Amino acid sequence: MSKQSALIASLPTELWLGGIATPASNGARFDVLDPATGDVLSSVADASPEDAVAALDRAVAVQASWAATPARERGEILRRAFELLHSRADDFALLMTLEMGKSLQESHGEVKYGGEFLRWFSEEAVRIGGRFTQAPAGNGRILATKAPVGPVLAITPWNFPLAMGTRKIGPALAAGCTVIVKPAEDTPLTMLLLGQVFADAGLPEGVLSILPTSDAAGVSGPLMEDPRLRKVTFTGSTGVGKLLVRASAERLLRTSMELGGNAPFIVFDDADIDAAVDGAMLAKMRNGGEACTAANRLYVANSVREEFTQKLTARIAALKVGPGVTPGTDIGPLINSKQLATVTALVEDAVAKGARVRTGGQAPGGVGFFFTPTVIDEVPNTANLLRDEIFGPVAAVIGFDTEDEAIAAANDTQYGLVSYFYTRDLDRAMRVSSALDTGMVGVNRGAISDAAAPFGGVKESGFGREGGSEGIDEYLETKYIALQ
Ligand code: NAD
Repeated sequence: MSKQSALIASLPTELWLGGIATPASNGARFDVLDPATGDVLSSVADASPEDAVAALDRAVAVQASWAATPARERGEILRRAFELLHSRADDFALLMTLEMGKSLQESHGEVKYGGEFLRWFSEEAVRIGGRFTQAPAGNGRILATKAPVGPVLAITPWNFPLAMGTRKIGPALAAGCTVIVKPAEDTPLTMLLLGQVFADAGLPEGVLSILPTSDAAGVSGPLMEDPRLRKVTFTGSTGVGKLLVRASAERLLRTSMELGGNAPFIVFDDADIDAAVDGAMLAKMRNGGEACTAANRLYVANSVREEFTQKLTARIAALKVGPGVTPGTDIGPLINSKQLATVTALVEDAVAKGARVRTGGQAPGGVGFFFTPTVIDEVPNTANLLRDEIFGPVAAVIGFDTEDEAIAAANDTQYGLVSYFYTRDLDRAMRVSSALDTGMVGVNRGAISDAAAPFGGVKESGFGREGGSEGIDEYLETKYIALQ
């Protein structure tokens, strides 16, 4: 049996109901595809609304005891989960490549990145503070304490099947919250395997449930209507985020929203062009372009535009496209046929409106959901891809003349997740960093994600922060105790 078949045969595929593998109450299952071939990889139990309520029953039953578990013990469970995840790094990496499509090298990168949230929050669990002051009037004392929010629903996307989960599970468990995870339907297997890691790490039963489902709204709806659920944390598209915020208003649920991006990547005329090309490769091609942080619009000073575009085109044209499991692959397939159609339509629209293809430009055809890595330049302002997330390996280059012009173009979007720019001028670096209207800014860097940093957006990219010392606050309430 090949390594791949052995792994697939050994995977947990039932619902993870409070730590116990359980078939869906109605017996339903759905298929998970390999995007490199379009073939069925496996099938998983398909949670129903009743299963969701059963998961919440279990979370509620242990919420108080989990919150009362010493922070050191919660931290040590997270630390053991971090170590166990790394001891199974090869399995996790292969599994992510199989169900999501990214190259094995990128999947190993995600194991490292995703694991860091378990390690970081294992360390943060014991640093949940509070505040004590005298009332200014001298008539009492003010004690501000922190308490876990309570049972959390975490809804995650397919593009980082592990890390988008650990970014939520890590801080929630550290804070003392129980968690129900609803992974993306395209990539539920990685999260189910993580459930087993947590069980092996000693997480008590009931604290964590994982509910794959083909009916996301059907499963999240009854949970969000249930007064026992206290928080929804979501990573995904802005459209679905808005639906969830509307639904959360009914019960004024706490929410965190990590939504879509439309990142500008600016190369000023004083930039180190080779460094900017390296940064653009990371910012654009990491995860095959299927990242909320992906550089969607490359604004390049006209005086250096041709040099930059030629160098970028040479690098992108040299990328090896193929199944993620094939050694040497740089760019795997897109996640599904719908995403392939979206990327194709965005490129066709830009070209029809006057953009020039420097390399790539279309899907190669054949099996799997591949799109050839592409550079287009002279992209007109009317092109849809300047407004919509491309979510694919397509670099769109636009020229500019002045700094003000670049900043205005960069901010001309409803999104505000991240922006990047390259310059060797320190004054400019400070000036432009504060002028860019995004939650995060990369200066002379094409990758900004770090478990120790507060990740999150402004405007329609959402609110709340994941990672850093801020990340745990999303799962804590402040309680004021007035002492005589
Ligand atoms: P999506 O919004 O389609 O799905 C995300 C999750 O929401 C999935 O689990 C899906 O099943 C679930 N969902 C869909 N409809 C729902 C509904 N009506 N009710 C409840 N749940 C529902 O997004 P996607 O295509 O999986 O992911 C790509 C998007 O995620 C992109 O927009 C990307 O920018 C964004 N993203 C953002 C971040 C960030 O941190 N800001 C990180 C990664 C991805």
